[in-house]
Amino acid sequence: MIQKTLQRDNAFAALGLSRPLCNAVADAGYETPTPIQIKAIPDVLSGRDLLGCAQTGTGKTAAFALPILQHLAGHRRGLRVLVLAPTRELAAQIGASFGTYGRGTGLRQHVIFGGVNKNPQRKALRAGREILVATPGRLIDLMGEGVVDLSRVTHFVLDEADRMLDMGFVRDVRRIVREIPRDRQTLLFSATMPNEIRTLASEILRDPLHVAVDPVSSTREPTSQAVYFVEKKQKLDLLLRLLDDRDIDIERALVFTRTKHGANKLTKQLGNAHVNAAAIHGNKSQAARERALAGFKRGQLRVLVATDIAARGIDIKELSHVINYDLPNEPESYVHRVGRTGRAGLTGAAISFCATEERLYLRDIERLTNRRLDRPEGGDDRRTESPRAPKARNGSPRAPNARNDTQRRPRRRRRR
Ligand code: AMP
Repeated sequence: MIQKTLQRDNAFAALGLSRPLCNAVADAGYETPTPIQIKAIPDVLSGRDLLGCAQTGTGKTAAFALPILQHLAGHRRGLRVLVLAPTRELAAQIGASFGTYGRGTGLRQHVIFGGVNKNPQRKALRAGREILVATPGRLIDLMGEGVVDLSRVTHFVLDEADRMLDMGFVRDVRRIVREIPRDRQTLLFSATMPNEIRTLASEILRDPLHVAVDPVSSTREPTSQAVYFVEKKQKLDLLLRLLDDRDIDIERALVFTRTKHGANKLTKQLGNAHVNAAAIHGNKSQAARERALAGFKRGQLRVLVATDIAARGIDIKELSHVINYDLPNEPESYVHRVGRTGRAGLTGAAISFCATEERLYLRDIERLTNRRLDRPEGGDDRRTESPRAPKARNGSPRAPNARNDTQRRPRRRRRR
Protein backbone atom coordinates (compact mmCIF):
# COMPACT_ATOMS: atom_id res chain seq x y z
CA MET A 1 0.00 0.00 0.00
CA ILE A 2 2.60 2.50 1.14
CA GLN A 3 4.79 1.22 -1.64
CA LYS A 4 2.20 2.14 -4.23
CA THR A 5 1.73 5.66 -2.96
CA LEU A 6 5.42 6.42 -3.08
CA GLN A 7 6.32 8.14 -6.29
CA ARG A 8 8.91 6.35 -8.35
CA ASP A 9 11.37 9.23 -8.37
CA ASN A 10 11.32 10.08 -4.72
CA ALA A 11 10.44 6.73 -3.22
CA PHE A 12 13.83 6.36 -1.57
CA ALA A 13 14.11 10.06 -0.72
CA ALA A 14 10.74 9.77 1.05
CA LEU A 15 12.35 7.27 3.43
CA GLY A 16 14.86 9.95 4.43
CA LEU A 17 17.79 8.95 2.25
CA SER A 18 20.18 11.56 0.92
CA ARG A 19 20.43 12.48 -2.74
CA PRO A 20 23.74 10.63 -3.46
CA LEU A 21 22.30 7.43 -2.04
CA CYS A 22 19.05 7.85 -3.97
CA ASN A 23 21.11 8.29 -7.11
CA ALA A 24 23.15 5.20 -6.34
CA VAL A 25 20.05 3.02 -5.94
CA ALA A 26 18.55 4.50 -9.10
CA ASP A 27 21.78 3.61 -10.91
CA ALA A 28 21.46 0.09 -9.52
CA GLY A 29 18.05 -0.07 -11.22
CA TYR A 30 15.88 0.00 -8.09
CA GLU A 31 12.61 1.80 -8.68
CA THR A 32 10.70 1.23 -5.48
CA PRO A 33 11.89 0.17 -2.05
CA THR A 34 11.09 -3.40 -1.01
CA PRO A 35 8.86 -3.97 2.05
CA ILE A 36 11.78 -4.42 4.41
CA GLN A 37 13.40 -1.24 3.12
CA ILE A 38 10.17 0.71 3.69
CA LYS A 39 9.82 -0.67 7.19
CA ALA A 40 13.43 -0.48 8.32
CA ILE A 41 15.20 2.46 6.67
CA PRO A 42 13.48 5.36 8.52
CA ASP A 43 14.08 3.78 11.94
CA VAL A 44 17.62 2.71 11.22
CA LEU A 45 18.29 6.26 10.06
CA SER A 46 16.96 7.51 13.38
CA GLY A 47 19.56 5.37 15.14
CA ARG A 48 17.39 2.58 16.51
CA ASP A 49 18.52 -1.01 16.90
CA LEU A 50 16.70 -3.47 14.70
CA LEU A 51 15.67 -7.09 14.87
CA GLY A 52 14.78 -8.08 11.32
CA CYS A 53 13.10 -11.34 10.48
CA ALA A 54 13.94 -11.50 6.81
CA GLN A 55 15.95 -13.64 4.53
CA THR A 56 18.41 -12.92 1.78
CA GLY A 57 16.61 -11.85 -1.36
CA THR A 58 14.20 -9.46 0.34
CA GLY A 59 16.45 -6.45 -0.15
CA LYS A 60 17.64 -6.44 3.44
CA THR A 61 21.23 -5.56 2.56
CA ALA A 62 20.15 -2.18 1.23
CA ALA A 63 17.83 -1.85 4.25
CA PHE A 64 20.86 -1.77 6.53
CA ALA A 65 23.62 -0.54 4.22
CA LEU A 66 21.89 2.63 2.99
CA PRO A 67 21.16 4.17 6.42
CA ILE A 68 24.60 3.17 7.68
CA LEU A 69 26.28 4.83 4.71
CA GLN A 70 24.23 7.93 5.37
CA HIS A 71 25.33 8.01 9.01
CA LEU A 72 28.93 7.68 8.00
CA ALA A 73 28.92 10.22 5.20
CA GLY A 74 31.67 12.73 5.74
CA HIS A 75 33.43 10.63 8.38
CA ARG A 76 36.60 8.95 7.35
CA ARG A 77 38.12 7.95 10.61
CA GLY A 78 38.95 4.28 10.56
CA LEU A 79 36.84 1.24 11.23
CA ARG A 80 33.23 2.25 12.04
CA VAL A 81 31.10 -0.56 10.68
CA LEU A 82 31.36 -4.28 11.23
CA VAL A 83 29.07 -6.68 9.37
CA LEU A 84 29.28 -10.37 10.24
CA ALA A 85 28.00 -12.90 7.72
CA PRO A 86 28.11 -16.71 7.96
CA THR A 87 29.44 -17.52 4.49
CA ARG A 88 32.10 -16.20 2.17
CA GLU A 89 29.60 -15.75 -0.64
CA LEU A 90 27.23 -13.70 1.46
CA ALA A 91 30.10 -11.60 2.86
CA ALA A 92 31.35 -10.91 -0.67
CA GLN A 93 27.89 -9.88 -1.79
CA ILE A 94 27.36 -7.55 1.14
CA GLY A 95 30.75 -5.98 0.45
CA ALA A 96 29.78 -5.50 -3.19
CA SER A 97 26.47 -3.91 -2.16
CA PHE A 98 28.26 -1.42 0.11
CA GLY A 99 30.50 -0.66 -2.86
CA THR A 100 27.51 -0.06 -5.16
CA TYR A 101 25.47 2.05 -2.76
CA GLY A 102 28.44 3.89 -1.29
CA ARG A 103 30.00 4.91 -4.57
CA GLY A 104 30.76 8.58 -4.32
CA THR A 105 30.73 8.69 -0.51
CA GLY A 106 34.49 8.19 -0.24
CA LEU A 107 33.93 5.41 2.30
CA ARG A 108 36.06 2.31 1.92
CA GLN A 109 34.97 -1.24 2.62
CA HIS A 110 36.80 -4.51 2.80
CA VAL A 111 35.64 -8.11 2.95
CA ILE A 112 37.49 -10.80 4.83
CA PHE A 113 36.83 -14.52 4.95
CA GLY A 114 38.71 -17.76 5.44
CA GLY A 115 40.18 -20.09 2.85
CA VAL A 116 42.25 -17.41 1.14
CA ASN A 117 45.60 -15.77 1.76
CA LYS A 118 45.57 -13.47 4.80
CA ASN A 119 48.15 -11.02 3.53
CA PRO A 120 45.94 -8.84 1.34
CA GLN A 121 43.43 -8.74 4.21
CA ARG A 122 46.10 -7.65 6.71
CA LYS A 123 47.30 -5.03 4.30
CA ALA A 124 43.82 -3.61 3.68
CA LEU A 125 43.06 -3.49 7.39
CA ARG A 126 46.31 -1.71 8.15
CA ALA A 127 45.60 0.79 5.38
CA GLY A 128 42.32 1.64 7.14
CA ARG A 129 38.77 0.87 6.13
CA GLU A 130 35.52 2.34 7.42
CA ILE A 131 33.45 -0.74 6.67
CA LEU A 132 34.47 -4.32 7.32
CA VAL A 133 32.39 -7.30 6.23
CA ALA A 134 33.68 -10.55 7.67
CA THR A 135 33.00 -14.17 8.43
CA PRO A 136 33.56 -14.86 12.13
CA GLY A 137 36.44 -17.36 11.96
CA ARG A 138 38.85 -15.28 9.90
CA LEU A 139 37.95 -12.15 11.82
CA ILE A 140 38.86 -13.81 15.11
CA ASP A 141 42.15 -14.98 13.57
CA LEU A 142 43.04 -11.47 12.53
CA MET A 143 41.89 -10.01 15.83
CA GLY A 144 44.28 -12.45 17.50
CA GLU A 145 47.08 -10.99 15.41
CA GLY A 146 46.15 -7.50 16.53
CA VAL A 147 45.41 -6.36 12.97
CA VAL A 148 41.76 -5.50 13.65
CA ASP A 149 40.73 -2.84 16.12
CA LEU A 150 36.99 -2.85 16.83
CA SER A 151 37.16 -0.25 19.61
CA ARG A 152 35.72 2.54 17.48
CA VAL A 153 32.96 0.60 15.77
CA THR A 154 29.64 2.47 15.91
CA HIS A 155 27.52 0.17 13.72
CA PHE A 156 27.33 -3.58 14.05
CA VAL A 157 25.29 -5.84 11.76
CA LEU A 158 24.79 -9.53 12.33
CA ASP A 159 23.41 -11.08 9.16
CA GLU A 160 21.76 -14.49 8.76
CA ALA A 161 22.04 -15.08 12.48
CA ASP A 162 20.18 -18.39 12.30
CA ARG A 163 22.70 -19.68 9.78
CA MET A 164 25.49 -18.59 12.14
CA LEU A 165 23.85 -20.80 14.72
CA ASP A 166 23.56 -23.76 12.32
CA MET A 167 27.20 -23.41 11.41
CA GLY A 168 28.33 -23.26 15.04
CA PHE A 169 29.50 -19.64 14.96
CA VAL A 170 27.50 -18.24 17.85
CA ARG A 171 30.33 -18.48 20.39
CA ASP A 172 32.62 -16.67 17.97
CA VAL A 173 29.96 -14.01 17.47
CA ARG A 174 29.71 -13.43 21.23
CA ARG A 175 33.49 -13.17 21.44
CA ILE A 176 33.57 -10.58 18.70
CA VAL A 177 30.70 -8.56 20.16
CA ARG A 178 32.59 -8.24 23.43
CA GLU A 179 35.24 -6.23 21.57
CA ILE A 180 32.75 -3.70 20.18
CA PRO A 181 31.78 -0.67 22.30
CA ARG A 182 28.33 -0.98 23.89
CA ASP A 183 27.46 2.46 22.63
CA ARG A 184 26.67 1.41 19.10
CA GLN A 185 23.78 0.74 16.76
CA THR A 186 23.13 -2.96 16.27
CA LEU A 187 21.08 -4.59 13.54
CA LEU A 188 20.36 -8.30 13.59
CA PHE A 189 18.80 -10.19 10.70
CA SER A 190 17.63 -13.76 10.71
CA ALA A 191 15.33 -15.74 8.43
CA THR A 192 13.99 -17.69 11.40
CA MET A 193 13.91 -16.85 15.10
CA PRO A 194 14.80 -19.91 17.16
CA ASN A 195 15.15 -19.39 20.92
CA GLU A 196 18.94 -19.18 20.77
CA ILE A 197 18.67 -16.25 18.37
CA ARG A 198 16.12 -14.50 20.59
CA THR A 199 18.49 -14.91 23.53
CA LEU A 200 21.40 -13.56 21.53
CA ALA A 201 19.25 -10.67 20.31
CA SER A 202 18.26 -9.77 23.86
CA GLU A 203 21.94 -9.68 24.81
CA ILE A 204 23.18 -7.50 22.00
CA LEU A 205 20.24 -5.26 21.00
CA ARG A 206 18.78 -2.34 22.92
CA ASP A 207 15.07 -1.67 22.61
CA PRO A 208 15.05 -2.87 19.01
CA LEU A 209 12.44 -2.21 16.40
CA HIS A 210 11.01 -5.54 15.26
CA VAL A 211 10.53 -5.91 11.54
CA ALA A 212 9.37 -9.04 9.79
CA VAL A 213 8.77 -9.59 6.12
CA ASP A 214 6.91 -12.61 5.01
CA PRO A 215 9.36 -14.69 3.02
CA VAL A 216 6.77 -16.45 0.97
CA SER A 217 4.54 -13.59 -0.07
CA SER A 218 7.44 -11.21 -0.61
CA THR A 219 8.72 -10.22 -4.04
CA ARG A 220 10.86 -13.32 -4.14
CA GLU A 221 8.25 -15.82 -5.15
CA PRO A 222 8.92 -17.30 -8.59
CA THR A 223 6.08 -17.04 -11.05
CA SER A 224 5.68 -20.74 -11.55
CA GLN A 225 6.37 -23.61 -9.19
CA ALA A 226 5.98 -27.14 -10.46
CA VAL A 227 6.59 -30.62 -9.16
CA TYR A 228 7.31 -33.77 -11.14
CA PHE A 229 6.82 -37.17 -9.54
CA VAL A 230 9.80 -39.24 -10.49
CA GLU A 231 11.70 -42.09 -8.94
CA LYS A 232 15.24 -41.47 -7.81
CA LYS A 233 16.83 -43.46 -10.62
CA GLN A 234 14.86 -41.56 -13.26
CA LYS A 235 15.76 -38.09 -12.03
CA LEU A 236 18.75 -37.61 -14.32
CA ASP A 237 16.72 -38.54 -17.40
CA LEU A 238 13.99 -36.14 -16.38
CA LEU A 239 16.49 -33.33 -15.84
CA LEU A 240 18.06 -33.89 -19.26
CA ARG A 241 14.63 -33.98 -20.86
CA LEU A 242 13.63 -30.70 -19.23
CA LEU A 243 16.94 -29.07 -20.22
CA ASP A 244 16.13 -30.04 -23.83
CA ASP A 245 12.56 -28.85 -23.72
CA ARG A 246 12.19 -25.62 -25.70
CA ASP A 247 8.85 -24.77 -24.14
CA ILE A 248 10.30 -24.83 -20.67
CA ASP A 249 13.25 -22.80 -21.92
CA ILE A 250 15.81 -23.34 -19.20
CA GLU A 251 18.46 -20.76 -19.83
CA ARG A 252 20.40 -20.98 -16.59
CA ALA A 253 19.49 -23.25 -13.72
CA LEU A 254 20.61 -23.55 -10.15
CA VAL A 255 20.09 -27.21 -9.28
CA PHE A 256 19.95 -28.31 -5.66
CA THR A 257 21.02 -31.67 -4.35
CA ARG A 258 20.86 -32.75 -0.74
CA THR A 259 24.50 -33.79 -0.38
CA LYS A 260 27.91 -32.70 -1.62
CA HIS A 261 28.47 -36.17 -3.00
CA GLY A 262 25.17 -35.91 -4.88
CA ALA A 263 26.23 -32.55 -6.30
CA ASN A 264 29.53 -33.95 -7.58
CA LYS A 265 27.89 -37.01 -9.06
CA LEU A 266 25.21 -35.02 -10.87
CA THR A 267 27.76 -32.54 -12.21
CA LYS A 268 29.71 -35.41 -13.69
CA GLN A 269 26.63 -36.99 -15.20
CA LEU A 270 25.61 -33.67 -16.76
CA GLY A 271 29.10 -33.25 -18.15
CA ASN A 272 28.85 -36.72 -19.73
CA ALA A 273 25.62 -35.58 -21.35
CA HIS A 274 27.37 -32.45 -22.70
CA VAL A 275 25.66 -29.99 -20.39
CA ASN A 276 28.06 -27.34 -19.08
CA ALA A 277 27.78 -27.66 -15.32
CA ALA A 278 29.83 -27.11 -12.16
CA ALA A 279 29.27 -27.91 -8.52
CA ILE A 280 29.48 -25.46 -5.67
CA HIS A 281 29.60 -26.74 -2.10
CA GLY A 282 31.57 -26.53 1.11
CA ASN A 283 34.24 -29.05 0.09
CA LYS A 284 35.28 -27.01 -2.92
CA SER A 285 38.12 -24.55 -2.56
CA GLN A 286 37.28 -20.88 -2.48
CA ALA A 287 38.91 -20.46 -5.88
CA ALA A 288 36.85 -23.29 -7.40
CA ARG A 289 33.64 -21.85 -5.97
CA GLU A 290 34.40 -18.39 -7.28
CA ARG A 291 35.32 -19.78 -10.69
CA ALA A 292 32.09 -21.75 -10.90
CA LEU A 293 30.01 -18.78 -9.84
CA ALA A 294 31.74 -16.43 -12.26
CA GLY A 295 31.31 -18.92 -15.14
CA PHE A 296 27.66 -19.26 -14.31
CA LYS A 297 27.10 -15.52 -14.07
CA ARG A 298 28.81 -14.98 -17.41
CA GLY A 299 26.60 -17.63 -18.99
CA GLN A 300 29.45 -20.08 -19.71
CA LEU A 301 27.85 -22.63 -17.48
CA ARG A 302 24.24 -23.52 -17.94
CA VAL A 303 23.86 -25.40 -14.70
CA LEU A 304 25.24 -24.77 -11.25
CA VAL A 305 24.73 -27.69 -8.89
CA ALA A 306 24.65 -26.61 -5.28
CA THR A 307 23.90 -27.71 -1.75
CA ASP A 308 21.84 -25.51 0.55
CA ILE A 309 24.63 -23.99 2.60
CA ALA A 310 26.84 -23.19 -0.37
CA ALA A 311 24.02 -21.53 -2.26
CA ARG A 312 22.73 -19.54 0.64
CA GLY A 313 22.99 -15.87 -0.11
CA ILE A 314 24.22 -16.35 -3.64
CA ASP A 315 22.79 -13.58 -5.72
CA ILE A 316 22.53 -14.38 -9.40
CA LYS A 317 20.60 -11.99 -11.48
CA GLU A 318 18.43 -13.30 -14.28
CA LEU A 319 18.39 -16.84 -13.04
CA SER A 320 15.67 -18.49 -15.09
CA HIS A 321 15.19 -21.70 -13.09
CA VAL A 322 15.77 -23.23 -9.70
CA ILE A 323 15.51 -27.00 -9.78
CA ASN A 324 15.15 -29.10 -6.68
CA TYR A 325 16.72 -32.33 -7.86
CA ASP A 326 16.29 -33.49 -4.29
CA LEU A 327 13.56 -31.97 -2.17
CA PRO A 328 14.88 -30.45 1.04
CA ASN A 329 13.74 -32.08 4.28
CA GLU A 330 13.17 -28.68 5.88
CA PRO A 331 10.38 -26.81 4.10
CA GLU A 332 12.03 -23.45 4.92
CA SER A 333 14.96 -24.48 2.72
CA TYR A 334 12.54 -24.79 -0.18
CA VAL A 335 11.54 -21.16 0.31
CA HIS A 336 15.20 -20.11 0.44
CA ARG A 337 16.02 -22.11 -2.66
CA VAL A 338 13.20 -20.96 -4.88
CA GLY A 339 13.76 -17.41 -3.71
CA ARG A 340 16.97 -17.45 -5.74
CA THR A 341 14.88 -16.96 -8.86
CA GLY A 342 12.17 -14.52 -9.85
CA ARG A 343 13.98 -11.64 -8.20
CA ALA A 344 13.40 -7.96 -8.38
CA GLY A 345 10.62 -8.10 -10.93
CA LEU A 346 12.21 -10.81 -13.07
CA THR A 347 10.17 -13.86 -13.75
CA GLY A 348 11.56 -17.21 -12.84
CA ALA A 349 10.42 -20.74 -12.33
CA ALA A 350 11.00 -23.40 -9.73
CA ILE A 351 10.84 -27.08 -10.60
CA SER A 352 10.95 -29.83 -8.01
CA PHE A 353 11.52 -33.53 -8.41
CA CYS A 354 9.69 -35.67 -5.90
CA ALA A 355 10.49 -39.33 -5.42
CA THR A 356 8.27 -41.64 -3.43
CA GLU A 357 10.38 -41.22 -0.32
CA GLU A 358 10.20 -37.44 -0.59
CA ARG A 359 6.42 -37.11 -0.62
CA LEU A 360 6.16 -36.08 2.99
CA TYR A 361 8.69 -33.33 2.33
CA LEU A 362 6.44 -32.11 -0.46
CA ARG A 363 3.46 -32.12 1.86
CA ASP A 364 5.38 -30.01 4.40
CA ILE A 365 6.45 -27.58 1.67
CA GLU A 366 2.91 -27.12 0.42
CA ARG A 367 1.71 -26.56 3.96
CA LEU A 368 4.36 -23.96 4.73
CA THR A 369 3.96 -22.05 1.49
CA ASN A 370 0.21 -22.50 1.54
CA ARG A 371 0.42 -23.24 -2.14
CA ARG A 372 -0.20 -26.33 -4.19
CA LEU A 373 2.64 -26.75 -6.66
CA ASP A 374 1.61 -27.30 -10.28
CA ARG A 375 1.68 -30.89 -11.55
CA PRO A 376 2.54 -30.49 -15.25
CA GLU A 377 2.65 -34.23 -15.76
CA GLY A 378 0.05 -35.15 -13.20
CA GLY A 379 1.21 -37.74 -10.75
CA ASP A 380 -0.04 -39.87 -7.98
CA ASP A 381 -0.80 -37.30 -5.33
CA ARG A 382 -3.16 -39.26 -3.22
CA ARG A 383 -0.56 -40.22 -0.71
CA THR A 384 1.09 -36.85 -0.67
CA GLU A 385 -2.05 -34.96 0.00
CA SER A 386 -3.61 -37.33 2.40
CA PRO A 387 -2.53 -36.35 5.90
CA ARG A 388 -2.81 -40.03 6.81
CA ALA A 389 0.91 -40.53 7.00
CA PRO A 390 1.64 -43.99 8.27
CA LYS A 391 2.24 -43.97 11.98
CA ALA A 392 5.28 -45.34 13.64
CA ARG A 393 4.68 -47.78 16.46
CA ASN A 394 4.76 -45.06 19.11
CA GLY A 395 1.96 -43.25 17.31
CA SER A 396 3.98 -40.30 16.08
CA PRO A 397 4.23 -39.69 12.35
CA ARG A 398 7.09 -41.49 10.78
CA ALA A 399 10.06 -39.37 9.91
CA PRO A 400 10.12 -38.84 6.15
CA ASN A 401 13.60 -40.24 5.93
CA ALA A 402 12.78 -43.34 7.89
CA ARG A 403 12.71 -46.44 5.72
CA ASN A 404 9.78 -45.81 3.62
CA ASP A 405 6.46 -47.37 4.09
CA THR A 406 5.01 -46.14 0.83
CA GLN A 407 7.45 -48.33 -1.05
CA ARG A 408 5.67 -51.33 0.27
CA ARG A 409 2.26 -49.94 -0.30
CA PRO A 410 1.36 -51.23 -3.74
CA ARG A 411 0.58 -54.55 -2.13
CA ARG A 412 -2.12 -53.00 -0.03
CA ARG A 413 -5.50 -52.21 -1.37
CA ARG A 414 -6.05 -48.48 -1.83
CA ARG A 415 -8.81 -46.77 0.06
CA ARG A 416 -11.50 -45.19 -1.99
P1 AMP B 1 19.30 -8.92 -0.60
O1 AMP B 1 18.09 -9.44 0.14
O2 AMP B 1 19.86 -7.75 0.09
O3 AMP B 1 20.29 -10.01 -0.85
O4 AMP B 1 18.82 -8.39 -2.03
C1 AMP B 1 18.37 -9.26 -3.03
C2 AMP B 1 18.45 -8.66 -4.41
O5 AMP B 1 17.47 -7.63 -4.57
C3 AMP B 1 19.78 -8.04 -4.78
O6 AMP B 1 20.06 -8.45 -6.09
C4 AMP B 1 19.53 -6.56 -4.76
O7 AMP B 1 20.34 -5.90 -5.70
C5 AMP B 1 18.07 -6.48 -5.16
N1 AMP B 1 17.34 -5.32 -4.59
C6 AMP B 1 17.46 -4.82 -3.35
N2 AMP B 1 16.62 -3.78 -3.19
C7 AMP B 1 15.95 -3.63 -4.35
C8 AMP B 1 14.93 -2.73 -4.80
N3 AMP B 1 14.45 -1.78 -4.01
N4 AMP B 1 14.49 -2.87 -6.07
C9 AMP B 1 14.99 -3.83 -6.88
N5 AMP B 1 15.94 -4.72 -6.51
C10 AMP B 1 16.41 -4.63 -5.26
